[in-house]
Amino acid sequence: MPELPDVEGFRRFYNRHAAGQRVRAANGIDPTMLRTGTAQTFGRALKGRRLEGARRHGKLLICPAGGPTLVLHFGMTGMLAWCEGEARHRHDRLVLELSEGELRYRNMRKFGGIWLVDDDGLAELTGRLGPDWLELDRVQFERLIARRRLAIKGALMDQTLAAGLGNLTADESLFRARIDPRRPACALDSGERRRLYSSIRRVLDDSLPYGLVPAKPKWLTRARDERPGRCPRCGATLERTRIGGRTTAFCPREQH
Ligand SMILES: [Zn+2]
Repeated sequence: MPELPDVEGFRRFYNRHAAGQRVRAANGIDPTMLRTGTAQTFGRALKGRRLEGARRHGKLLICPAGGPTLVLHFGMTGMLAWCEGEARHRHDRLVLELSEGELRYRNMRKFGGIWLVDDDGLAELTGRLGPDWLELDRVQFERLIARRRLAIKGALMDQTLAAGLGNLTADESLFRARIDPRRPACALDSGERRRLYSSIRRVLDDSLPYGLVPAKPKWLTRARDERPGRCPRCGATLERTRIGGRTTAFCPREQH
């Protein structure tokens, strides 16, 4: 599931392949993925526009197109593909025909969405989100979680507090900081908040070059899908629970 490191990877991909090119046509639009307008208005508004460099806010990929801005959210299974003459894929939900090839937004399970907005619409969309995680400093972070009673894992995934973390980055960071994901956010002392902040930053920094959360040898991400998964640090059997509707893995011996 695309989280901040994945979407950052999509941003680089977009800028490498699509930025600077003119849109000949927007085709293959799946209307159920559109969060604004219709396939017709969408196609008309993008045709002839030159795509600029994309930026990212949390899990949103923001692609200005010399007037309107295309915004993509990748949901659970979204990705970008660059194609030069290949047949359409049945999960392509938007195909931008550009001067040198096609940029395709592919999304099997169709969570997420596609927007085409003006500046006000973009401000409204990003205004629902907290600051992007790469822009968040430690003092801001501590202030954000200080009074929250929900489980710390849930607070980390709450995009209205700070945007970009998802299931893997949240679990990996709590594992690295040795904090039980079920504890109320407000119960963390200042040493734990500090440790958690630097763990999150390091998980993000280590993940960014890969464009995903890597399954490194000492990482929870590597062990979490095994049955029974064992803690890569101490060998204890990993525990699983659900927080905020998502499967949460942690080491019961070290994260308490
Ligand atoms: Zn352990």
